[in-house]
Amino acid sequence: MSLATIPDPDGRQTADDRTQAIRDHLRDAIVDRRLAPGTKLTETEVGALFNVSRTMARSALQMLSFEGLVRIERNRGAFVANPDPGEARQVFAARRLVEPGIAAAACAQATPRDLARLRAHLADERRHMDLRGPSARRAEIKASGEFHLLLAEASGNQILHRFMEELIARSSLVIALYGRSGASSCGHDEHGGIVDALERRDAAAAQALVVRHIDHIEADLDLDQGRTTSLKAALSSLRPT
Ligand SMILES: [Zn+2]
Repeated sequence: MSLATIPDPDGRQTADDRTQAIRDHLRDAIVDRRLAPGTKLTETEVGALFNVSRTMARSALQMLSFEGLVRIERNRGAFVANPDPGEARQVFAARRLVEPGIAAAACAQATPRDLARLRAHLADERRHMDLRGPSARRAEIKASGEFHLLLAEASGNQILHRFMEELIARSSLVIALYGRSGASSCGHDEHGGIVDALERRDAAAAQALVVRHIDHIEADLDLDQGRTTSLKAALSSLRPT
């Protein structure tokens, strides 16, 4: 594992802050696939890596298991989650229920500052999409997810924002596992359309666009054929050209 230690220059972090920081680092590593699905995460190793107690490491792993990114097995320990296609579909079914509500609330609540942040984010996403390669793809998946979190922030509902943090973490893992490489994880034009609808305060349009967008993200995944195609893709990419 190559994970950074947690900076604490003035030594003022509480145990909760540190647990949260470990969880954030591990979550990024899982979603970025620096930690492969199925990898065992021992409390001792996580503790040593971040220079914290096993208790704190355990708390961070438990937080990740609540979010569905880590699977804790009795007597066996914690493992990076490996969502199957059925679970992947459930993530998108949940998003189809939650996100239209967020879009409607954001239409009513978004401040000029929220709208400016969303516009600035669209410009960032466009920059990521122009780049190529695995690290660019990881950055693009992350930026795409952040758009949906900004939308949740604009709704002004912190509980919905918390739900979305979990759903986006799970979605990002699913997209990293099942996304067809080359396809965008989130159509940039669709994000732009959603922001346009927010600016017009057109809740019906924003809701419809969000649902269509989630349908498109799910349709771009390779959930029907499972992972055998990944093997095929892996082998064909090794073929000399
Ligand atoms: Zn999106």
